[in-house]
Amino acid sequence: MIFDVTGPPLRMHPMVVGYEPIIEAVSVLGGDPATFLLEPVTAAAVVHEDGWVLLDSGFNVGVVRDPEARGRHYNYDGYTALVPPGDPLADQLAALGLGWDTLRGVAISHIHVDHTGGLRHVPPGVPVAFQRAEYAFGAALTPDQARACVVIPGDFLREGLDIALLDGDTPLAPGIVALDTAGHTPGHQSFQVALPSRTVVLACDAADLRRNIDEQVACGTTMRPEDGPAAARAVARLRALDRTPGVEVWPGHDPDWAAWRDPAVS
Ligand SMILES: [Zn+2]
Repeated sequence: MIFDVTGPPLRMHPMVVGYEPIIEAVSVLGGDPATFLLEPVTAAAVVHEDGWVLLDSGFNVGVVRDPEARGRHYNYDGYTALVPPGDPLADQLAALGLGWDTLRGVAISHIHVDHTGGLRHVPPGVPVAFQRAEYAFGAALTPDQARACVVIPGDFLREGLDIALLDGDTPLAPGIVALDTAGHTPGHQSFQVALPSRTVVLACDAADLRRNIDEQVACGTTMRPEDGPAAARAVARLRALDRTPGVEVWPGHDPDWAAWRDPAVS
């Protein structure tokens, strides 16, 4: 196991940690290029008896609120990060009583700006799991490429992070498995969490919307043109999981997926 926790997950806390206007055609292949959806940015804390695990981490709020800093990292005319007051990730975790001192591991679905920002809170010694292909892709981006991909390399390349590199499907902790869903990015991963009463698969950006799963239509953008077939395979995999009895697949950015607003699921 990559993360040092004991026993199965007791519960999961879904979190909405920001919002972003996204063109429908970015979320679903063939979608309308003129329709914007106000998509939630999501993360989840999985609680075990002796610690907790963070899955994705939202925005680096210091960067996205600073016009000069965000201008270095993305084109504000084409992409806008919306962050509620305060620090939505840190504030929600504090309200849940989940301290950084009992964090046992972090897994990040992929390197986009709306998933890596909370890594600034992660203390040394806590493993941060990426797929190897994803981390290598991110580490090799030039500043111009990173800006075009809406990636802040400093979020995941900074000193003091203990990066754990995964090769495909990997058990992270009892009841938590990283699933290879590459395509949207070269090493995208989703997360399967076995809760006491059901198994939840967090699709992350392999399926922004339920429509990706219900209609088996891939995400609308990939970082590399050659990754289209992989994106289609990823959404087919998620659809098959969603049809498995006892398994629910949650879309990563669906404004209508009400479960993201539940305080806790088990
Ligand atoms: Zn993404």
